[in-house]
Amino acid sequence: MKQFKAESKRLLDLMIHSIYTHKEIFLRELISNASDAIDKLYYKTLQDGDTGLSRDDFEIRITADKENRTLTIEDNGCGMTKEELENNLGTIAKSGSLDFKKNNEKSDNIDIIGQFGVGFYAAFMVSSKVVVESKAYGSDEAWKWESSGVEGYTVDSCEKEGRGTKITLYLLPENSEEESYDQYLDGFTIKRLVKKYSDYIRYPIKMELQKSRMKEKPADAPKDAEPEYETYTELETLNSMVPIWRKNKNEVTNEEYEQFYRDKFFDYEKPLKIIRSSTEGTATYDALLFIPSHASYDYYSKSYEKGLQLYSNGVLIMDKCADLLPDCFSFVQGLVDSQDLSLNISREMLQHDRQLKLIEGRLEKKIKEELQNMLKNDRENYEKFFKAFGLQLKYGVYANFGQQKELLQDLLMFWSSKEKKMVTLEEYVSRMKEDQKYIYYASGDSVAKVDLLPQTEALKDRDYEILYLTEGVDEFALKILAKYNDKEFKSVSDNDLGLETEEEKETAKKLVEENKDLLNTMKDDLGDEVKQVIVSQKLKSHPVCLSTDGALSIEMEKVLNSMPGEEKGNVKAQRVLELNANHPVFTKLQELYKEDPEKLKQYSKLLYNQALLIEGVPISDPVAFSNAICDLMV
Ligand code: ADP
Ligand code: MG
Repeated sequence: MKQFKAESKRLLDLMIHSIYTHKEIFLRELISNASDAIDKLYYKTLQDGDTGLSRDDFEIRITADKENRTLTIEDNGCGMTKEELENNLGTIAKSGSLDFKKNNEKSDNIDIIGQFGVGFYAAFMVSSKVVVESKAYGSDEAWKWESSGVEGYTVDSCEKEGRGTKITLYLLPENSEEESYDQYLDGFTIKRLVKKYSDYIRYPIKMELQKSRMKEKPADAPKDAEPEYETYTELETLNSMVPIWRKNKNEVTNEEYEQFYRDKFFDYEKPLKIIRSSTEGTATYDALLFIPSHASYDYYSKSYEKGLQLYSNGVLIMDKCADLLPDCFSFVQGLVDSQDLSLNISREMLQHDRQLKLIEGRLEKKIKEELQNMLKNDRENYEKFFKAFGLQLKYGVYANFGQQKELLQDLLMFWSSKEKKMVTLEEYVSRMKEDQKYIYYASGDSVAKVDLLPQTEALKDRDYEILYLTEGVDEFALKILAKYNDKEFKSVSDNDLGLETEEEKETAKKLVEENKDLLNTMKDDLGDEVKQVIVSQKLKSHPVCLSTDGALSIEMEKVLNSMPGEEKGNVKAQRVLELNANHPVFTKLQELYKEDPEKLKQYSKLLYNQALLIEGVPISDPVAFSNAICDLMV
C-alpha cells in the first residue's frame, strides 16, 4: 500500500468526512476530468497530424449497477500510465485544489467545497472505495488504481479493452440520516445532475436509461382493453453539448455562467463581471470573458500566466493564449472561439497571426468599455475590482513608456484627502478650485501616514484636494501620465507648489534675503545631503520638512533603491530642507547663528534627520541622533 502525499491526505480526509449537502458535485468533477482527458488527446492528435481519430469517436459513458451499488464513469480520452496514475491521483495537482487548501487554512468553511473544482477526491464524498482503471493512449498496458481512503492506495496491472479511463465508485451504504446515496444509481437523477453541471461539455455523455412505453395492442384485442406497458432501455445523450458561449444569451442564466467559470478557471468565488461578445466580419469570434473578484494567490508573481483559452469552432486548441490579452488586462479569464483559425496551427504560427492581433484589439476595447460601465454604474464593485487589480492598471500606464496611458487613465483611482475614498482623475479635476493650477498628490506608505505629512498643510489650508499615493508604482505612473485633462500633476514634496500670490512671493523673497547667511551656513553644515535649505511656503505648524528639486522624488528614490540589483543608496533625489520661518525653532536658529555656530551645526543635523523620519526615510546614524536628543534633554 502506498501513502498519499501529506496535503492530499488532508484534502481526502476532508472529503471523506464531509457533511457537505451538495455531495452531488462529485459527478461534475469526474465528468470534467473525463472531458479534459478527451480534450488532451484530441488536441494531441490534431498536432500529430492524421491519427484516424475524429471528434465523433469520443464519448463519456455513465453506467449504474443497482445490484452491486456501483456507478461507473468511463471516457476514451488520453488515459493514464502507471506513473501518471500515481502522480496525478496521489497528489493534489491543480491550482483549484491548492487554492482550496489555502482558503481552508484560514477558515473551516466546508461550504467552499461546492464552489469550485475540488477534483478527483470529491469521489470519496459518496464512495467507500474508488477504482480507477486506465490505459494510456498509445500504450497496450492497463493499470488499476484502488483506494478506500486515507490509508493509502494500490496500483496493479489489469486488463482493459480500449484506451481511456474507467472510474468505478462503490457507493457508501445508504444512511437515512444523511443524504441518500442510492439516488446516484437512478438514471434520472444522473441526467438531472448532468444537465445542471455539465450540459456544456462538448462530448456526448451517454447513459442507458430505463424507460417504459405502451405496448402495441394485438389486432384482436377488445377495444376497451386496458393498455399494457413494457420497459426497455435506451442509450441517451444527456448533455446538450452546445458550448455555453454558443447558446443564445437569453438561454443562459448567470448561475450557469458562474458555475462554468468556477469549474473552468478554478476560482472559488464568482466573477465580478461576465462579458460576452461576438463579432462577425474581418474577425469572426465569440468571446466569453470573466473579471475575477479577487487576485489569485499567484497573480502578482512570476509564475502567473496570462491568457485566454482559444477554441476553433468549439474545439480547444490552446489553453492559455497570451496574445489575446494585453498585459494591462492580464487578470481577465475566459475564452475565444473563432472559426477563422485553422485547427492544426502551431504555437509559433499563432504568434504572428493577424487574426489574433485583430481579436486582441477588439477585446481590449471591449474590456475597457465594460470596466468603464462598471465604474459608472456599479461603483461598489468597481472599487472591489480596483482593489484587486488597480495595481496592474497602474503598471500598465507605466509600462512601454506610457503606450497604453490613454486607454487606462480613466480607469485609475486614488485616495482623496477630501472625499476620504477612492476617486478618479476625472472626478478630481471636476472639483478643482478656480485658482488651482495643479493636480496635487502626496506619497507615502499608507493613507494614515500620508495624511500626517507636514507638506500637505498649506494645501489643506486652501481646501485643495490631494491624492494620496501609497503604492510604489503610483508616482511613476503619474510621471508618465504627466497631465490629465491638461492639468499637470504636482507632488506636495515639490519645492514649488505654485501657491504663492505675488504679494506672498515678495515676502518670501525678503525672508530669504534676510536669512541668507543662516540658510547658507545650514546648507554648508549638511554638506552634500541637501541641495538647498530654504524658507518654506507650505508649512503652517510644523518646523521642518523635506522637499525635492527635479524629477525624482523621495518616494521614487525609495522604490528605485529597493529594486533587486540596485546598489543601496545609488539613486538619490535632490533634497531641499524647508524651514518654517514662523516657528519658534526658526527664531532659535537665528540666535544660534549669531552666538553659537557649533550648536547651529548640531541643530541643522537634528532638523534634517527629523525631516527624513517624517518622510519615512531611515536616517544614517540613529544612535548619534538619539544621543543628540538626550544631550538636549539634560
Ligand atoms: P484537476 O482536474 O484540477 O487537474 P483532479 O483532482 O480533478 O484535478 O485530477 C487530477 C489529475 O488526474 C488531472 O489533472 C489528470 O491529470 C488526472 N485525471 C483525472 N481524471 C482523469 C481521466 N479521466 N483521464 C485522464 N486523466 C485524469
Ligand atoms: Mg478535475
